[in-house]
Amino acid sequence: MDWFRRFMTGRYGVDQLYVALIVLSMFFLLLSSITGWPYFAVVSLLLFAYAYFRVLSRRIYKRSQENLVFLKLWDPVSRWFRQAVRRIKDLRRYKYFKCAGCGRSLRVPRGKGKVRVTCPVCRTAFVKKT
Ligand SMILES: [Zn+2]
Repeated sequence: MDWFRRFMTGRYGVDQLYVALIVLSMFFLLLSSITGWPYFAVVSLLLFAYAYFRVLSRRIYKRSQENLVFLKLWDPVSRWFRQAVRRIKDLRRYKYFKCAGCGRSLRVPRGKGKVRVTCPVCRTAFVKKT
């Protein structure tokens, strides 16, 4: 593995954008085999090539800037996903609704009848059926 370490010295390596590109590449490969459409395989190959171009690149600063841009774009998406998953898990035990005052999403336990809710952010109080 010594030759490999020497080979990778001064090269960028793997980051979150790399993982995303590989996953996307696999997705397009799968799509290509399902639909039989060869263009999806080409897209998959291009994504794969770009992922490894970045890994082997010596322009470390530029690659890390790319990753930062990716993370900035990806963050709201991943937050939305985590929230959606939590809501689905909580569906039986909690009820979600938006605060009438500030629009913030609030969570109350189900099956407690009518409850008076005070928003922790803007202090607006209202009655909700759980
Ligand atoms: Zn509020």
